[in-house]
Amino acid sequence: MDNIKLNKAVITEIDNLAEEMRAVARAIHKKPETGYQEYETSRLLCGFLEKNGFKVKRGIAGMETAFVASYPETAKGPAIALLAEYDALPGLGHGCGHNLIGTASAGAAAGLRKAVPEIKGKIVVMGCPAEEAGIDDAGGKIRLIKKGYFKDIDAAFIFHPFPMTTVGGETTTLIGLEFNFRGKSAHAAGNPWDGVNALDGVLQMFNGVNALRQHIRDGVRVHGIVTHGGDAPNIVPEKASARFFLRTDNKESLLELAGKVRACAEGAATATGTGLKVNTFCNLYDSMKSNPVLAGILEKNLNAIGLRVEGRKKGKGSTDFGNVTRTVPACELGLRLGNGIVPHTREFLRASNSEEGFRVMMQGAKVMALSALELLSSPDLLLKAKKEFNSSP
Ligand SMILES: [Zn+2]
Repeated sequence: MDNIKLNKAVITEIDNLAEEMRAVARAIHKKPETGYQEYETSRLLCGFLEKNGFKVKRGIAGMETAFVASYPETAKGPAIALLAEYDALPGLGHGCGHNLIGTASAGAAAGLRKAVPEIKGKIVVMGCPAEEAGIDDAGGKIRLIKKGYFKDIDAAFIFHPFPMTTVGGETTTLIGLEFNFRGKSAHAAGNPWDGVNALDGVLQMFNGVNALRQHIRDGVRVHGIVTHGGDAPNIVPEKASARFFLRTDNKESLLELAGKVRACAEGAATATGTGLKVNTFCNLYDSMKSNPVLAGILEKNLNAIGLRVEGRKKGKGSTDFGNVTRTVPACELGLRLGNGIVPHTREFLRASNSEEGFRVMMQGAKVMALSALELLSSPDLLLKAKKEFNSSP
């Protein structure tokens, strides 16, 4: 079969899976599970992949909800990974559309396998839990990288619904810090002079960070919440905590910023007489290094299904896909969902369970499948992508 016929066959096979994919995406949306709790979600995706001829290993890299699905199980050629994300946001369900991401990757792989059973190489779906950074030890992809699951991967793609259609682009590096202040309890009215108020430590820290804002560079983000502020108004809070995310465009400036924010906390502890413990609660998300060769392939196949790149992503968000782009040649595909709505909102939550959302998911599956096929059929392109990866910092 020539390339045009092969591509048509891939699109037809993915279209044949539309109903099944929509059912999976709907079911995931209906029962949103946050990072490392995606039990039902990963069961659905693994079931879909097994039914469609993939060999699935579950519970990998010490994460019960991570998985890796391959076809064929062993292959001589290169391995292309399509990454599945499927965690929900605490309190906001699938307001980031990860139900569409996980299903798109699984559907792309299944359609590709059906259309090209004798594929030259290996199709891998990597099931990556806990992309959303708000929870403990977040960053499933980082843990998969550390455990060697990307060692035999030659290139990786992911799709994400976005406010505009884009390939590659930029994200920030992110670190999550937790600040635990320790005081001394006392009756808040009876003998407050005997107490040390841990909440005052947290409040002073926020004041310090807000003063620091004048002196940080454009594009840097510092944002925190109080995670514990005491137990009752009539007790001087013995313990109080805050969690902050810090984001900059590179690791060096991130560590410098972390030092300054830490100093705000230390100053607050001194001023209030509280004890302080600081710990990192999620893995360090690296900024994206999009592979230009893979970006070109994604754009070409985007055009092939009648879509156009609308702009370049320059968001201040962060993703553990950034770490993947610094491990293997990789590129993200963003497809516009809705008109002017952004992820992590109620509007995006609704759009992720709409007919438009499912249409975007099918487009994502097709572009990724066609791009994976192109890479597997042209060793030169893959070589070029690897050269580019090795030569850029
Ligand atoms: Zn997301």
